[in-house]
Amino acid sequence: MMKNKSFYIFLITAMFYGCNQPFNISHERIVQADLEPENWMAHGRTFDEQRFSPLNQIDSKNIQDLGIDWYFTTDTNRGHEASPIVVDGVMFLTSAWSVVYALDATNGEMLWKYDPLVPKEWGYNACCDVVNRGVAVSKGKVVFGTIDGRLIALDAKSGSVLWESLTIDKSRPYTITGAPRIVKDKVIIGNGGAELGVRGYVSAYDLDLGNMIWRFYTVPGDPSHDFENPILEEAVKTWKGGKWWEVGGGGTVWDSMAYDPELDLLYIGVGNGSPWNRYIRSPGGGDNWFLSSIVALKPDTGEYVWHYQTTPGDTWDYTATQHMILADIKIDNEIKKVIMQAPKNGFFYVIDRTNGSFISAKNYVPVNWATHIDPISGRPIENPEKNYENRVVEEITPGPLGGHNWQPMSYSPNTGLVYIPAQELFFNYGDDNNFVYNKNTWNTGIDINATVPPKSQEELNELLNAIKGHLSAWDPSAQQEVWRSSYDWPWNGGVLSTAGNLVFQGTTEGKFIAYKADNGEKLWEIDLQNGIGAPPISYSINGEQYIAVMVGYGGAYALTAGVPPVHSGGNINGRIVSLKLGSNNQLPEPKSYAEMTEPPASNADMATIARGEFEYHEHCQFCHGAGAVGGGVIPDLQQMTELTHKTFLGIVLGGAHKDKGMVSFKEMISEEQAEDIHAYLIDQANKTYTLLHQSN
Ligand code: CA
Repeated sequence: MMKNKSFYIFLITAMFYGCNQPFNISHERIVQADLEPENWMAHGRTFDEQRFSPLNQIDSKNIQDLGIDWYFTTDTNRGHEASPIVVDGVMFLTSAWSVVYALDATNGEMLWKYDPLVPKEWGYNACCDVVNRGVAVSKGKVVFGTIDGRLIALDAKSGSVLWESLTIDKSRPYTITGAPRIVKDKVIIGNGGAELGVRGYVSAYDLDLGNMIWRFYTVPGDPSHDFENPILEEAVKTWKGGKWWEVGGGGTVWDSMAYDPELDLLYIGVGNGSPWNRYIRSPGGGDNWFLSSIVALKPDTGEYVWHYQTTPGDTWDYTATQHMILADIKIDNEIKKVIMQAPKNGFFYVIDRTNGSFISAKNYVPVNWATHIDPISGRPIENPEKNYENRVVEEITPGPLGGHNWQPMSYSPNTGLVYIPAQELFFNYGDDNNFVYNKNTWNTGIDINATVPPKSQEELNELLNAIKGHLSAWDPSAQQEVWRSSYDWPWNGGVLSTAGNLVFQGTTEGKFIAYKADNGEKLWEIDLQNGIGAPPISYSINGEQYIAVMVGYGGAYALTAGVPPVHSGGNINGRIVSLKLGSNNQLPEPKSYAEMTEPPASNADMATIARGEFEYHEHCQFCHGAGAVGGGVIPDLQQMTELTHKTFLGIVLGGAHKDKGMVSFKEMISEEQAEDIHAYLIDQANKTYTLLHQSN
């Protein structure tokens, strides 16, 4: 009898595994993701991208027992921004340079790794570090985009390549940093590049074969050619007077998407204009569809359904590519199907996702570019005092890094709150009246002289005191903040909420923190040694709940703002860290900062240094940091070695370090200009060295 019974159990088990192949995520399984809360099968866990885990083993009472169970270190110290996918005990994730890893999700053991060997010089085209926000998994395939514009499908079991498609025109500086989404049997992917100058679009590829099915352009091209789809004939009427198509027009779909299976609508978040400056891009005015918009498309065909433009006539880099969340929430005693977004422009939007109609908006951070959003038209009322046409206007807020950037929010259906990784930053915008399109560099149309950081230490301290971040728990129905936790620095990490009444967030300073979701009480924190931008996720295996997060400083703020607030700097490689109750493993001791060595004497005259400062901020600051202060991720040019000083021209003009991502600038600057930049760097290094020795 007993033998028969165990045989029977064996048979059932075999049948179960037989019809549930590993990694066989399907559209239907993601639609019903709440039936298997142990897995994290899609970018935001569910198609509505709420980033809420129904797991509740870890809760506000036992959180003190949470500790590191395992960690895995990647091969690069550049930014780490991926959301891992976890299914059938395996975790799939990406590091910078578009490298994919498959790990055993119970112990971090590597099952396979795939490096698409991105040519490092293509990294120059990435505005905001060579990051990657993760893979999508379906039907046994792991699909991801590469920084040089390829879409690749790997076999989930072996990591071998199934197909590869080039999604971009390589004569333009396109990059892919966003995670693809898989809707039914189509892989949806966008791209970035609007700072340098591209035309935005989103495309759908066949999951099985890798061929393109449709492409939707988010801005009109050269009107002397035919438009690719009928809605662009309407869109072009909102572009006036300029030759935007030469720079590209912008409108890249570089990160956020969401999908509603019931309405069968795909939502894409569209980015800023190329150039940023609308007085150059569209001097006759106009809203410039579909810049800075949420656009709803039919996922089968790419057909336009509706759009809502958060920043008509964007001229500040106010993308609407920020995370979008779908939820059904009660507003004035009526359940509404909404889409919610906190785009860069500083306002939190609640939009009817069935038809794109405006419901409400309220600023979630201080805003001065507009006074408010008109409740009837849903349009921002711009503040004329901050209009920078033909002049420089200081301290416009938010700045181009936004009141909120790519770091995902989270919505808890239990608390009804949206958790926003918010920040307070401003920017001096100036109209560049001498703008000339140059295909080899950034093309924002912004006067670089207006953006040079303050010279005196007092002014710099004032600036540093003014920039900060906070986690905001936001009631979307009432449009008001319920609680907040303040941070000294901006650029803090994405958010996870769980059914354990918890909210998790990492910070720029490397803390990983848990709050009580309903009232914001800080319950627990751990030092993970390096800046955290990525959003945490949660999964469960063998009855044990894990919280996992990628750790690694990088991205736009770390590179351009040039401040390394993390005690260990950016000099440690990225990691994925997985935590569970009762574990107490430790990370290895971080390397400490190397002490600054004495720079060569500064002998150049003031005029040379001033010219060098301008050229540096025109060409170098986007990676090496404003004021030549390195953010710890990319080499700090104030700390060049004797050899680097000697071979400076060979690196800058000769491309000696192109295999590290430092391209030759010989098409952009002359030898004399390179020498001027070198003089500026030596001068800055001397100032910093003197300052360090005064304070010691
Ligand atoms: Ca941008």
